[in-house]
Amino acid sequence: MTTLPLAAELPWLRPAQDAFNAALASDRLGHALLVQVSPGQGGQWLAVWIAARVFCRQVDPHRQMPCGSCLDCRRVMANEQPDLLRVHPIEDSKEIRVDQVRELSAELALTSHAGGRKVVIVSPAERLNRNAANALLKTLEEPSGSALLLLVTGEPSRLPATVRSRCTRLLPGPTNDDLFVSWLQAQRPASSAADWRAVLGVLGPQPLAALEADTAALGGLRRDTERALEEVMRGTLDVVDTADRWGKEDYALRVACVELWLIDRLRDWGRGRRSAAPKILFDALDHAREARQWAESPVNKPLAIERVLWRLATVAQTAGSQRPVG
Ligand SMILES: [Zn+2]
Repeated sequence: MTTLPLAAELPWLRPAQDAFNAALASDRLGHALLVQVSPGQGGQWLAVWIAARVFCRQVDPHRQMPCGSCLDCRRVMANEQPDLLRVHPIEDSKEIRVDQVRELSAELALTSHAGGRKVVIVSPAERLNRNAANALLKTLEEPSGSALLLLVTGEPSRLPATVRSRCTRLLPGPTNDDLFVSWLQAQRPASSAADWRAVLGVLGPQPLAALEADTAALGGLRRDTERALEEVMRGTLDVVDTADRWGKEDYALRVACVELWLIDRLRDWGRGRRSAAPKILFDALDHAREARQWAESPVNKPLAIERVLWRLATVAQTAGSQRPVG
C-alpha cells in the first residue's frame, strides 16, 4: 500500500526511474524486473509508478512521467486497473503461496483487457515460499508476450538464484540517513530533523515507513523502553513481566530501541563517561541483535527479551555485592 502520489519525488529512486524509461524507449525492457528496493524505501511505490508509466495515456514527453490524472493512472492508484495484477502474502500468512502463483499464471495466459500489456507486482518478493518460487520460475522461463513482472524486494539474496538470474535488476541510487531526513522534512516540515532521525533510528533506513509511522507513539515507546532499561540496571524491574509484554506487542520496535540505547551507553563508555561494565553491555547488545533476527520467526520472543534483560540485571547484582553493608 502506498499513499504517495505518482508525482512524488524520491531522489534515491530517480536513477531507477531513468533506467526504466531508457529501457522502455529503446525497447530493451525485459519481461521481468527485480526492483531491489525495500517497501520501506519506496519499492512498492516505484512498482506502482512503473505500472502507471506503462498504462498512462498522457505521459509527459519531456519528463517521461505518468500524468497521474488520466483514467488509467487513477485506476492504477485505486488498484482498479484490470491489467495490473498484484501478489502479496495473504492476510495472516507471512508467505506468498503456490496457489497464488498458479492463479497468476492462469490470468497471464488470458489476453489483456485493453489489448496491451499486463503488469504484475509481486511484493515483497522474498516472501515467495519455495514452491511458489518454483512455480514462478516456469512463468519466467516461458513468459507470455505482453506481461511485465515486477518483483519488489529489499532482500534479493532471499530469492532463489534461479529466479534472480531471470530478472533484469532495477537498482536505487545511493542512500543515507541525511538524504532520508531531508526528504522527510520536505514531506512534513512540522517534525524536526532530530525527530525524523529518532524515528529512522527505531525503524531503520525506511523513510516511507517513517512517514506513515505515528511519531509521537514511537517516541513514547522509546522513552518507555529506556526507562525500563534504567530500572533493570538498578535492579527494580520485573524482568519476566516486562519481557512477556514486549515479546507480545511491538517486539521488533522494542528490540530496536534496546539496541539503540545500548549503542548509546557503549558510546558514553568509549568517551570515558561513567558507564556500566562494558562487558555486560556488549553481551546484552549481542543478545539484542540475535533477538532482532527472530522478529519474523516463531521463536519464543519473551525469552529472547529476557536474555537481554537478565544480562543487564547483572549490573545491579554486581553493584549490590560491592556495596558496603550498613
Ligand atoms: Zn496518466
